[in-house]
Amino acid sequence: MRFINSYAHLPEVFFQRIDPEPAAAPSLIRLNRPLADRLELDLPGNDADLAALFSGNRLLPGSAPIAQAYAGHQFGQFVPQLGDGRAHLLGEVVNGQGERFDIQLKGSGRTRFSRGGDGRSPLGPVIREYVVSEAMHAMGIPTTRALAMASTGQPVFREAELPGAVLTRVASGFVRVGTFEYFAARRMEDAVRQLADHVIDRNHPAARKADNPYLALFEAVCEAQAGLMAKWMCVGFVHGVMNTDNTAVSGETIDFGPCAFIDHYDPEVVFSSIDHFGRYAFNRQPSIMAWNLACLGGCLIPLLDEDEARAHKAGEKVLEQFIPAFTDHYRQGLCRKIGLPGDDESFNLARRLLDLMRRDGTDFTNAFRALSAAQTDPAPFAGLFAPDEEIRAWLDDWRARLALTGAADTARETMRSANPAFIPRNHRIEQAIRAAEHGDFTPANKLIEVLRRPYDDQPENAEYAAPPRPEERVEQTFCGT
Ligand code: AMP
Ligand code: MG
Repeated sequence: MRFINSYAHLPEVFFQRIDPEPAAAPSLIRLNRPLADRLELDLPGNDADLAALFSGNRLLPGSAPIAQAYAGHQFGQFVPQLGDGRAHLLGEVVNGQGERFDIQLKGSGRTRFSRGGDGRSPLGPVIREYVVSEAMHAMGIPTTRALAMASTGQPVFREAELPGAVLTRVASGFVRVGTFEYFAARRMEDAVRQLADHVIDRNHPAARKADNPYLALFEAVCEAQAGLMAKWMCVGFVHGVMNTDNTAVSGETIDFGPCAFIDHYDPEVVFSSIDHFGRYAFNRQPSIMAWNLACLGGCLIPLLDEDEARAHKAGEKVLEQFIPAFTDHYRQGLCRKIGLPGDDESFNLARRLLDLMRRDGTDFTNAFRALSAAQTDPAPFAGLFAPDEEIRAWLDDWRARLALTGAADTARETMRSANPAFIPRNHRIEQAIRAAEHGDFTPANKLIEVLRRPYDDQPENAEYAAPPRPEERVEQTFCGT
């Protein structure tokens, strides 16, 4: 295995060269073998060596760890200096197919960017990120991935004493909107250009061939994020802290802090304990992403055109396409969830269903999954709604539309591949975390296994598809810093 360190070849202002801080008594919790195989990592065979590797106690040959500099808008407020305060980018690897991956430890000790923090992570957020990021991947949603988790064997002190852990995560790139903001705020135009070139090479190579590569880069990021937002909205994912430093320019979901999944459908739902004004509510995510992309566009202005007015105009034109592009993806995605082609009439029908779900507090995931079988047996689906005329009328209209569009034969398969049976339900994650904190990783491992096949029925694991009982409901999630 060979590490490349292309980010470390950028000028020194981009990062701090720093090794992880060793953990006191590391032990491996879990290694993601399929991902390790895809990366073609040449890993040691025994758990002690793996634990040393995935806690940062031992470095692979050729790795030159760095902490990346970035800034960001947090809840709308600009913070000029954030950066990897507890993460170390080990380097990048390229597999035989030419796929390139960044490998990063999180919770691996202090860096120049730690500000007041201890550089560490409690076990709970490590479990949450592993479970949710891998589930997102299995559902077909662009995301950073989890390669391993290891206990550090040393406590971290938050409101209480908690076990510490390190997550090893993998991305096609860890550059954030906030990375651009770091240099733009310092008026370091050359650095913005170097960063843009790096991101074009790494994540959006087609932009290089365009007449205006930087404008094409901006378009590519907007397009990737429009697709991503549609995918989030179609599975009921609430990121919870969509600050610009938690927005990757690769278009991958990143930083699973207070994230959560909708159980009963409530478009305005907010889970994060620190999101007091609902800035990052479920249904605000696309417009917040537009806001974040406007921040990115602002950073790129000097690169877009030598004439500032023209640069603004070009950037705004791209940005104006974001909500229409999102809506297009969302219309396609939501229509697939009801087995129909992505036309406006089908879209309206799907949204009528969402209205009924909202009215009745229906479980979002289970309603769509039950609909996948409703052509033959509508009773389980209809049973999730109030027993009145409206859901029957909706089913009649749906059947008529299936017939009219000629989708009736393919609808079941379309729906089964668009509507997961299993999502990382908040209460299951909580249970897995509580058990792990008491040294029992069985529930976390089981949850991870179930969520590897979200679109399979898995009748033996039916309890993982069940919504929370009232006493199991998770109303609030926490950042995990
Ligand atoms: P996050 O909320 O995880 O996205 O982190 C926001 C910022 O705080 C980033 O710059 C992190 O690196 C930093 N940070 C979060 N937790 C810690 C910690 N325990 N020690 C040092 N820095 C941290
Ligand atoms: Mg973050």
